[in-house]
Amino acid sequence: MIDLSRDHAERLDAADPLAGFRDEFVDAEPGLIYLDGNSLGRPPKATRERLAGVVADEWGRGLIRSWSQWIDRPALVGDLLGAELLGAAPGQVMVADSTTVNLYKLAVAALDARPGRRVIVTDDDNFPTDRYVLEGLAAQRERALRLVHADIDQGLSIAALRAAVDADTALVCLSHVAYRSGALLDMAEITDLVHERGALVLWDVCHAAGAVPIELDAAGADLAVGCSYKYLNAGPGAPAFLYVRRATQATMRQPIWGWFGQRDQFEMGASYDPEPTIARFATGTPAILGVTAVEEGVRLLAAAGIDRLRAKGVALTSYLIELADAWLPGFAVVTPRDPARRGSHVSLYHPEAWRLAQALIEAKVIPDYRTPDRLRLGPAPIYTRFVDVWEALNRLRDIAETKAYERFPARRARVT
Ligand SMILES: *Cc1c(COP(=O)(O)O)cnc(C)c1O
Repeated sequence: MIDLSRDHAERLDAADPLAGFRDEFVDAEPGLIYLDGNSLGRPPKATRERLAGVVADEWGRGLIRSWSQWIDRPALVGDLLGAELLGAAPGQVMVADSTTVNLYKLAVAALDARPGRRVIVTDDDNFPTDRYVLEGLAAQRERALRLVHADIDQGLSIAALRAAVDADTALVCLSHVAYRSGALLDMAEITDLVHERGALVLWDVCHAAGAVPIELDAAGADLAVGCSYKYLNAGPGAPAFLYVRRATQATMRQPIWGWFGQRDQFEMGASYDPEPTIARFATGTPAILGVTAVEEGVRLLAAAGIDRLRAKGVALTSYLIELADAWLPGFAVVTPRDPARRGSHVSLYHPEAWRLAQALIEAKVIPDYRTPDRLRLGPAPIYTRFVDVWEALNRLRDIAETKAYERFPARRARVT
């Protein structure tokens, strides 16, 4: 018998080794329960202070002289991120551009590294930008995009993927954690499967980085991209990151031949001759404020430790599922119930998910709505308490029982 009392949630918080990290974040509105850290993380206090310093000192006083310290920051922060959260040895991760742009850059590099192979494989429920970039690339490069069907709740099955990857496949591009349901793929197993057929694999770790341990080197991954504004808490539109396995860097080329990838950049050479290193995957001037915010976000997660963050993510999502089962008839937990098969967010099915999401926001609980009828709840392990999960589900139960959501428009807003 599970204990559904608020006291129990308080006891879980009292025993939580990460509880203190909540105070490391800029205060939110009192009483607000934020369950959307998987879409936009909260700002760390350290970031607020550090950015104020970068503006006042590095930029304000140092002016252009500060480029001597800024120039290496995207690679240094990439190394930190690689070591702490991605299982990547130094020299393989770079903070740059957006996830969308990095995905394009690395997907082109992969196609060029597998000439003669005509097929790009992804799944039909992959994140939209991933599907669109690959669709565009297939059209531009006269390749075929093979969309493997994935269940929107349980995720992609390995059997379906195995049947779709063959000797004509150049690239397989997949999300480690599915954005809608939170379904988690086995990176090492899938990477092996792709390599057995001679193709390359590009992992999108946007919904995984900072929430689940990632072992890019150990899994043998070729390429990866991810964003920094979700669990890494670097702020809206902060730059993304990319990973390229060291052994392939010198032979891979990305399509944007910018001056930040150039060997001896400030020689201003006559033609493009890229560095043989991860630097060749850079394009133009990096967004230093954003890169610095990534550094602070990663430092904070590193202090918490990815294994402890993962353990708490499993505990929070398991607790959320227990409460949903007990309290929410008319809903269904559609995220995989095996914690080893999910990331750190939970998706609930309800035919009125959109109106429920609006009613929850009015009740000061911030969830996410996702098509077609899913309510997504993301308890970010570093700042979410068990009592927040208890409160959120309790308010949701009340909204469902009283049908308070019926007052809200059924028509969807521009941003959901
Ligand atoms: C959030 C997310 C993105 C976002 O890409 P942007 O270029 O930052 O807009 C891409 N892929 C996945 C899987 C995501 O979850």
